[in-house]
Amino acid sequence: MTESGPPVPAVPQPGSVAQQRTADGGPDPRAPVSDWYVALDSGPDGLDSAEARRRLGTYGRNELRRQRRRGWGREVARQVGHPLALLLWVAAALAWVAGTPALAGAILVVIALNALFASVQERQAERAVEALSRYLPRRARVHRDGRWQEIPTAEIVPGDVLAVAEGDRISADARLVEGSVEVDLAALTGESEPVHRSADAPPGEGGPSEAANLVFSGTNCLGGQARALVHATGMRTELGRIAALSQRVGREESPLEKQVRRVAWLIAAVAVGAGLVFFPIGVFAAGMPIGDAFAFAIGLLVANVPEGLLPTITLALAVGVRGLARVGAVVKRLSAVETLGSTDVICTDKTGTLTENRMRVVAVRAAGELHDPAPEPGERPDPALRALAVAVAACNNAERERGDPTEVAPLRFAADLGVTDPGHPGRRAQFPFDATLRLMSTVDDHAGTLWLHTKGAPEAVLARCTRVLTADGADRPLDDAYRRELSAAVTAQAGQGRRVLGVARRRLDGLPARRAEAERELSFLGFVAMVDPPRPEVPAAVARCHTAGIRIVMVTGDHGLTAAAIARQVGIVHGEPTVVTGDQLDAMSPERLRELLARGREVVFARVSPEAKLHIAEALRANHEVVAMTGDGVNDAPALRRADIGVAMGRTGTDVTREAATMVLTDDNFATIVAAVAAGRRVYDNVRKFILYIFAHATPEVVPFLVFALSAGAVPLPLTVLQILAIDLGTETLPALALGREPAEPGLMDRPPRRRSDRVVDGPLLARAWGFLGLISAVLVLAGFFVVLLRAGWRPGAPTGAGAPLHQAYREATTMTFLGIVACQVGTAFAARTEHASLRAVGVFSNRLLLWGIAFEIGFAALIVGVPPLREVFGTRPPEPAVLVLLLAYPPIVWGADELRRAARRHQQHSLI
Ligand code: ADP
Ligand code: MG
Repeated sequence: MTESGPPVPAVPQPGSVAQQRTADGGPDPRAPVSDWYVALDSGPDGLDSAEARRRLGTYGRNELRRQRRRGWGREVARQVGHPLALLLWVAAALAWVAGTPALAGAILVVIALNALFASVQERQAERAVEALSRYLPRRARVHRDGRWQEIPTAEIVPGDVLAVAEGDRISADARLVEGSVEVDLAALTGESEPVHRSADAPPGEGGPSEAANLVFSGTNCLGGQARALVHATGMRTELGRIAALSQRVGREESPLEKQVRRVAWLIAAVAVGAGLVFFPIGVFAAGMPIGDAFAFAIGLLVANVPEGLLPTITLALAVGVRGLARVGAVVKRLSAVETLGSTDVICTDKTGTLTENRMRVVAVRAAGELHDPAPEPGERPDPALRALAVAVAACNNAERERGDPTEVAPLRFAADLGVTDPGHPGRRAQFPFDATLRLMSTVDDHAGTLWLHTKGAPEAVLARCTRVLTADGADRPLDDAYRRELSAAVTAQAGQGRRVLGVARRRLDGLPARRAEAERELSFLGFVAMVDPPRPEVPAAVARCHTAGIRIVMVTGDHGLTAAAIARQVGIVHGEPTVVTGDQLDAMSPERLRELLARGREVVFARVSPEAKLHIAEALRANHEVVAMTGDGVNDAPALRRADIGVAMGRTGTDVTREAATMVLTDDNFATIVAAVAAGRRVYDNVRKFILYIFAHATPEVVPFLVFALSAGAVPLPLTVLQILAIDLGTETLPALALGREPAEPGLMDRPPRRRSDRVVDGPLLARAWGFLGLISAVLVLAGFFVVLLRAGWRPGAPTGAGAPLHQAYREATTMTFLGIVACQVGTAFAARTEHASLRAVGVFSNRLLLWGIAFEIGFAALIVGVPPLREVFGTRPPEPAVLVLLLAYPPIVWGADELRRAARRHQQHSLI
């Protein structure tokens, strides 16, 4: 029997009480505990492993079965019914009515391929998110084989005795058999009000969630400690019933996806408009046959509706999520990836996040003297030092090297002095550590005397002390002069970045009823000072934040001087920071706090209660900053919810904060937050890259049609409808996907965070896509088209239709246009890989996937032009080799032009600085 589990009472003899049962077969909450043990064939000591294994076979794993996925058929059907796809259906119907069944068929192929492609991408995205649970295995403590063990929650079985403590997410339905807890039933009832549940509470009337001695799977324990007998697991829990009833919740669309959806519709509207404008021009100005004009208008529309954009973005976000999980940041929403990229401020804990959370006691002061914690061999501690060691060993929930490092270190110090208290056989009561009081106390029976042992923040402890223990073991009143001396000693330790714990005790006559009654009139025993070295990777991560324009605000429960010293050690602050304590913060008006945080001053918040963290998050958000905030305790949950990105600790954090957080750090490391921000920026950049790429082909497709229209038909249409569709579908998708996986561009973390109001598709992006890359492509493409025609002796106005002498040359010319667009898109793909840097800086061949995509694109184009049956379908005819070689120049021209443009911009920005 060890640590946090409450003591095991003597085994009660199962009485012969009739086993009462409720309607659904579970034991009656009103029945005494002994009946429950009988009903579940268990006892106060729980099960043994063999029995647990057997029950696991019978009852199954303690998991909620996932609703079956949508089948492929339904998934594709959903994509086919997507609003943008519906637009294509209309186009297909119009093509059919207009008497061009081939075009109608082609559009159906477009719809089908798109739906299939989108389904594959969405499914992959879903998989990536589902796989995340692997990174956060949930564990619970059960009493088996006579000792407390940690097991995966999935292996809990009915009859197990489960430990429930503050911060736990309860993982099965159970009846409390000892202790009491506050629980949040929000998962079951939707109401986030803490309710009291106690082993000996009288059961209430009504539904099971009102029975005051039951706890339920999926609910959170907000305080207290208890032991509970599990009676239902998996789908048989209350939560399981609800899960079985409710449908899968739909995924919420991220702001990025919303923006892109809007852009997609805008482009679709433009495409429809272009089609509508083309039709009269084609018929009346250029004298095209109505059917042809109609078909071409529809083709133009279909090619420019960006129906494939959204699934590509979803997948890019999902791939980002997977990448984050690999570096130790598990995010729970796809949209978190993009929010991370715009983070302005990181509010971080100190202990464990910036520091290693490996504490070591380096100085001890008992009574009047400052000691070295390591005793000389054979040294006998004086009575005051010994009393201090006894107090920290008793008022402690760690177990040798396991537990809260703030407790492990004093425990080790006491053990070095020969003082241990394994299992705390004398403990009668506990007031657990409270982050607001910053105190923890225990009531211990040592050799018949009842003691209150308290440890906590030195100010908090000293404020409750009226006496002090002297070296000879005498107890004398604590006068003001001595109080000041002690405070100065604490300050001296804290100033060196040390974490200080004050220790005190009091003799009790009986068990105190309330905490405030117990923790008063204490006798001060001394303090221990511990070092907790900064994590080695943190200073570099902090520097990275600073070059990336991200502010770091330390928010800690520790002493102001300790906080400031650590902040200086890792480079968060340089001079003397403004240290704001929790009390000052509480007295501040919201406006004043906003003002303090707005000025770029270096601020450190110390001795802050978890509740105050909420105010900091709110003030920063009111200043329009995107806030990431870390937290580990139960009371941090509201602040984590309020921040844009709540960050919980995977190792030391509680289940409750993990539940409330958007991101969980599997290594608790600050540097991982920074890595996640960089990953978020990268994903956002990559989305812009493939949007740029996809948009760039619009100009070379639309300009030829403008030339045709403006020349009133004197110049024939440079591209056939099916060729347009071939570009849209066959040649673009893979390179676009590959651009979503681009490695990070150099300088990614040298620029300030993007503003929340920034649009993913903005003016500069469109200018670059349409006005620069697209325009250059259009010129090249038209040049190729005219070269072929003019070489064949074509003059403006000459007939090129079927049967005309120039018809074969015309087919070659349109083929040249088609191949020209493909060649330009190859150049565009390379250009799109970077937004600021030169391609050399990221490596020309560093995106393998893109090289494959381009190879596929070229192969696909070669098939359309080279295979005779396909030639007939797409109306192609290969131009002469002398002309074809011109195409080789296209990609380097487009790409090279953009390299020059970027180089010029870099130069310009450089000279501005
Ligand atoms: P941090 O932001 O460093 O994690 P905490 O809220 O955990 O701060 O702790 C605040 C203060 O409370 C510490 O400086 C320490 O004095 C005290 N403290 C922390 N943990 C314990 C504990 N287990 N028992 C008693 N006092 C503690
Ligand atoms: Mg802490």
